[in-house]
Amino acid sequence: MADLVVVGSVALDSVKTPFGQVAEALGGSATYFAYAASFFTQVRVVAAVGEDFPPAHLALLEAREVDTGALQVLAGKKTFRWTGEYGFDLNEARTLDTQLNAFAEFKPVLSPSLAKAPFLFLANIDPELQLDVLRQMNRPQLAALDTMNFWIQGKREALLKVLAEVDVLLVNDAEARMLAREPNLIKAARSIIELGPRVVVIKRGEYGSLMVSDGSFFFVPAYPLESVFDPTGAGDTFAGGFMGYLAQRGSMDPASVRRAMVHGAVMASFTVEDFSLERLKRLEPREIEQRFETFQQMVRFER
Ligand code: AMP
Repeated sequence: MADLVVVGSVALDSVKTPFGQVAEALGGSATYFAYAASFFTQVRVVAAVGEDFPPAHLALLEAREVDTGALQVLAGKKTFRWTGEYGFDLNEARTLDTQLNAFAEFKPVLSPSLAKAPFLFLANIDPELQLDVLRQMNRPQLAALDTMNFWIQGKREALLKVLAEVDVLLVNDAEARMLAREPNLIKAARSIIELGPRVVVIKRGEYGSLMVSDGSFFFVPAYPLESVFDPTGAGDTFAGGFMGYLAQRGSMDPASVRRAMVHGAVMASFTVEDFSLERLKRLEPREIEQRFETFQQMVRFER
């Protein structure tokens, strides 16, 4: 089991789906990621929140033994807020409002022990912040990156810089097309590989996910759920399962990477069953194991 550092948003989310809504619930890319990855390995969060961040949310991460030592509470600031909604097509989030708040002036300083962690996840946040953290790290064994339309459109240059220095990119299909400026997903993945990462993981919501790396493809379906309440955080949770599993194994051999994809899909399938982190809070390790086995059954066939 190896240390896994994540930098990303810790947020208060207001979300509306056709099935209900929540106001100022716990969210954020680093939050979903860390919570999911904590089922597999030691996770350490680099982020900032404001004075208004409820201590109970911090306690929730600490209860999973997530190291919050590098999660700064900034005096006089408010916590990052995201407001979004989904229509019946739950694959597409519409952002109504983004307030960076505490992240607008956040300057992370990594301790020597954080800097030598072998696994790094640059979760969705300002690419300048991602680059700052990556540059402070002492050559991680594996660095992965996530991003979204907000940054692809708003900070493309900085994003391309950080992309050039990571091993893996995880994005959804619309983000992959936007980043590569290419409508065909396979071509988009290939042109992203030209930009730096050797592995590209594209998440496609209810249609599953695919991984493209030097000449090979791997596809994982989504778990066939009959009730999906809120897809917020599915991508970050997928990344948490993926990176958490690799950090637990301490390796990147092809078979482990494929199993990591399935663990990503398993973890994401729980997140979408309820709002915020509610389903993850009730999650038992044996349920992860059961769904992993179901995935294996779902895609097994004889020739
Ligand atoms: P996803 O896994 O893509 O559904 O990520 C949802 C999470 O991303 C929410 O909990 C938001 O708080 C967070 N988020 C939304 N917009 C941004 C942004 N521009 N930067 C960082 N995090 C964001």
